[in-house]
Amino acid sequence: GIAVQSLSKSFGDHQVLKDISFSISKGETTVLLGSSGAGKSTLLRMLNLLESPDQGTLNIADMAFTFHKNQRTGQKQPSSAEACQLRRKVGMVFQQYHLWPHMTVLENLIEAPVQQGMLKPEARTKAMELLARMGLTDKANAWPSSLSGGQQQRVAIARALMLSPEVLLFDEPTAALDPAITNQVVEIINELQASGITMVVVTHEVDFARKIASRVVYLENGEIVEEGTAERFTAPQTKAFERYLQH
Ligand code: ATP
Ligand code: MG
Repeated sequence: GIAVQSLSKSFGDHQVLKDISFSISKGETTVLLGSSGAGKSTLLRMLNLLESPDQGTLNIADMAFTFHKNQRTGQKQPSSAEACQLRRKVGMVFQQYHLWPHMTVLENLIEAPVQQGMLKPEARTKAMELLARMGLTDKANAWPSSLSGGQQQRVAIARALMLSPEVLLFDEPTAALDPAITNQVVEIINELQASGITMVVVTHEVDFARKIASRVVYLENGEIVEEGTAERFTAPQTKAFERYLQH
């Protein structure tokens, strides 16, 4: 699972995350909601150390990190080796897919695992299994640019699954997709949840969020305003979240 305690982050004078605490049990799908600039992407990026918190503690995939900025004692900033180890267990899927354009779909999937020591035949077998699961067997040798947005997003998800992560983070995975294709992502996420993977999904789309969430975290101006089970969608406990759901 994931536990975050008193995380804060500023960019210059602008405090974008203020004393954030929450915890997520293994196997849950948590959606992170909030208006533009609320701090969702920054928080998500902190969960795999793409962004370093100023203060607080982060427990994720059985690793623990404590952050202190401007403090000479008691520091335990993650080393780059620790950050690498964490990213092997915590995968990330972006809105814009970030596939390598000069590599085929299959090469996109096996590149990082092979770099990290997985044997090529093993990587190929695993990649073909994942492509089959995503309904993309016939696209293994295609170039990313020849695929539709929905197909590219499924390749990106398959690529993130190559290292069998314990946690998968998604930043607006459906923002570039039309609604019919969004439902394919819903199905994949719900299937992954059934297989026990812990997911955190940033999204603007409330309908999408309702279809996948077991928990919800709602942010406003860098603070958690509402947090709880998916029942909060039908029974919000703050006026702010209720308003957010209505628009
Ligand atoms: P959106 O829904 O538009 O993606 P968000 O909730 O993901 O918004 P963040 O990207 O986390 O918001 O940004 C939160 C705030 O932090 C914004 O005001 C943004 O301008 C600021 N911010 C984010 N990254 C940086 C950075 N590297 N340097 C300076 N400010 C930043
Ligand atoms: Mg964002």
